[in-house]
Amino acid sequence: MIEILSPTELPRARQAGALVADILQTLRSRCEVGTNLLDINRWAQSMITEAGARSCYVDYEPSFGRGPFGHYICTSVNDAVLHGLPHDYALANGDLLTLDLAVSEGGVVADSAISFIVGDSNPPESVAMISATERALSAGIAAAGPGARLGDISHAIGSVLSEAGYPISTEFGGHGVGSTMHQDPHVPNTGRPGRGYRLRPGLLLALEPWIMADTAELVTDADGWTLRSATGCRTAHSEHTIAITNDGSEVLTLPKQAQP
Ligand code: MG
Ligand code: MG
Repeated sequence: MIEILSPTELPRARQAGALVADILQTLRSRCEVGTNLLDINRWAQSMITEAGARSCYVDYEPSFGRGPFGHYICTSVNDAVLHGLPHDYALANGDLLTLDLAVSEGGVVADSAISFIVGDSNPPESVAMISATERALSAGIAAAGPGARLGDISHAIGSVLSEAGYPISTEFGGHGVGSTMHQDPHVPNTGRPGRGYRLRPGLLLALEPWIMADTAELVTDADGWTLRSATGCRTAHSEHTIAITNDGSEVLTLPKQAQP
C-alpha cells in the first residue's frame, strides 16, 4: 500500500526530517580519529530519546537481518555499505564512514544517510565515491515531482552512478516512508524513464543511491546485519527523505546550513 500524507501531516514530516538531519550533523561533527562506533550509537540514542522521538531501528527485525537490530543508528565503515551494526571499533584516519538514521516523530518517519571521511586524509577514491552518490541523490530529487514517474527518479540516479563508472546493485534501494520506515513503492537505483508509479503530492520517498567501487555483489558480515562489498572495496551511500509537493519536491532531511 502506498501512503499519501494529507497537507496537515506535512509539518510533522518536516519536524521528523529536521530532527534526523540535526542528529546526523551533530554526530558527524563529533566523529574523529579514535571515536568508537558504540559511542556514536549511544549519542544517537540519547538525542532521539531527548527529542521524544522513536527509533525505527532498535526493534527492527526484517527477513534479511538477524534478530532485532538492537541499536539506534547504522554505522558502516569502508567496505561496509548498508545496515552496519555498531560494534567496538575505533575510527581511523581516512576511514569512509556512513551514518544512516531513521526515526519516527509525531507518527511520521524520516530516513537519511551521509557518508564522509574521518580525520584529515582525503583518499581520492573515497572522495569520488561520496561525490557520485551525492550527485546521484541530487539528480533523483530533481527528477521528482507531481506527475513524474518512479522510473524517472531511478533513471536519473542510475545515470549519474553509471556515468561515474560504478556498478549498480538493485538488491536494495529507496522506498516510500510514512507511518513506518520501509513502505511501497520501492525505488531502485536504476530504471527506465517514463515507467512506473506516477508521483502524487503528499507521497514521501527516501531516495538512497549507494555504490561499491568495483562490484555489485554484497556479502553479509558474521554479525548477521552488516552488508559489505564482496571484494572488500570501499563503498558510499547518500540518502534524503523528500515530500512530493504540488509544484515539485521538498527535501525534509537537509542540514540547517544547507537549507535555502
Ligand atoms: Mg536510511
Ligand atoms: Mg532508507
